[in-house]
Amino acid sequence: MAQAVKEALSSGYQIHPQAFNFLLKLDMKTDVTDLVIKVVQAKISSGDQQTIIIKEDLEKVLPPEFKELEQSQTVMRTMVPEFIKPEFEIVKDATNNIFPIEGLKGFQSLFRSRFDRLIKIIGKRPNSYQIRQIASLKKDAPSTPQKIAGLVMNKKVKRTHVELTVDDGSGRIKAIALEDRVRRSATEICLDQMVVLDLQFSKKGLIVAKDIYSPDIPEHQPSTSKKVVYAIFTSDSHVGSKAFLFDAFNKFVLWLNGKSGDDLIVSRVKYLIIGGDLVDGIGIYPNQEKELQEVNIHEQFKKLTQLIEQIPKHIIIFMIPGNHDPTRQALPQPAVPEKYAGQLYSMENVKMLGNPAYLNLHGVNILVYHGTSLDDVVAMIPGLTFTKPASAMKILLKARHLAPIYGGRTPIAPEREDNLVIEEVPDIFHAGHVHTVDIDNYRNVLLINSGTWQGQTLYQSNMGLSPIPGIVPIVNLATLEVISRNFVSMIK
Ligand code: FE
Ligand code: ZN
Repeated sequence: MAQAVKEALSSGYQIHPQAFNFLLKLDMKTDVTDLVIKVVQAKISSGDQQTIIIKEDLEKVLPPEFKELEQSQTVMRTMVPEFIKPEFEIVKDATNNIFPIEGLKGFQSLFRSRFDRLIKIIGKRPNSYQIRQIASLKKDAPSTPQKIAGLVMNKKVKRTHVELTVDDGSGRIKAIALEDRVRRSATEICLDQMVVLDLQFSKKGLIVAKDIYSPDIPEHQPSTSKKVVYAIFTSDSHVGSKAFLFDAFNKFVLWLNGKSGDDLIVSRVKYLIIGGDLVDGIGIYPNQEKELQEVNIHEQFKKLTQLIEQIPKHIIIFMIPGNHDPTRQALPQPAVPEKYAGQLYSMENVKMLGNPAYLNLHGVNILVYHGTSLDDVVAMIPGLTFTKPASAMKILLKARHLAPIYGGRTPIAPEREDNLVIEEVPDIFHAGHVHTVDIDNYRNVLLINSGTWQGQTLYQSNMGLSPIPGIVPIVNLATLEVISRNFVSMIK
């Protein structure tokens, strides 16, 4: 669209608002820039002096199949969902992979598994054969850097350098990052994440990191759907809170039912993914009860269900829990149990999943994660803020782990295996929790932080957090392009 407008302006033409809206509708179906060029050419060759492009100008140059489409839509008026056969697979669900081991033994097993899984990922990098055990480092070979890989046990950001302590099971070593470039990479490293270091032993006895790498993801080639089909990403509904924006959510439900036009999009919406904090919960933060409209967890789920039930049944809804929902708080989280969400379980088009979950929709791989650990990442990495959570999501992809930092605000369960390691690189990485909409891209992985349906709570205002509610990112799975709709502004 932007290109089309630019094209018109640079040729000395303006686009009438009605024509603009018409172009918006056509944008998903045809090349609108091409249409604008055709109109300009037609105007010049016919000697038309009018410099405003109106809807009729566009209709004159429109291919015949679009004219029919326009007509049939004005006749039908009500939205008819396009018949698109659902193609989805729940590739992984945390619910089915919970094997806790009590206490210290559990954490030893968890971190051993973290190391093993990440060393496998690092093993695919070109120079990984050079990695040696910390115990076998040659301290008397000062000229050649030696490569090691391990988990970061300690990180200290000092004024002149960054200090990292790394453990690989064979031993533990403390290295310092001095050069600007290396210091910058060191500051981006999370505690407890996997890291590769090129170490040099100086004559003065210092161990200097000459280079620091995260496991990272390779440049990604995303898969796309063969059909134009839309998936909607949202999260943090917080039903039960006084600040839950019922009117905006209701408007969203009506929109999904085709009551607000937008047919070209709505008729092809096939999936809705809700990334946790389904309800506001009980006793999640101090004095929460003062901000609750519904103090009974079962009633909170009843209200949520009443809204979800009004969503058209051809839309498949995936829901994972967040830190406000009644399930195990430590990550990974199993799905909200049936005793709270029984009605949702009985709905054919609703899939209750754990946090995290991997989905495949029409060939597109999607990692759905609530995002609790983004708090710790923002707190640990200088320069990150809650207004740009997708930058923190990038750090998680680089670390190849959904919650690397242990001992912060994110509880992590002692498990046999570390299922929070990001083994498969997704095409879309979806998180919420931060109550802001932020869309970004890292090495061709689409990053979506999906906002909220909760206005500002007293707790958030005391914390200096301003949510951006009621905005919904919508992804065309054929192109991975993101559009959005604002349901707060729609009710005004
Ligand atoms: Fe939330
Ligand atoms: Zn949350």
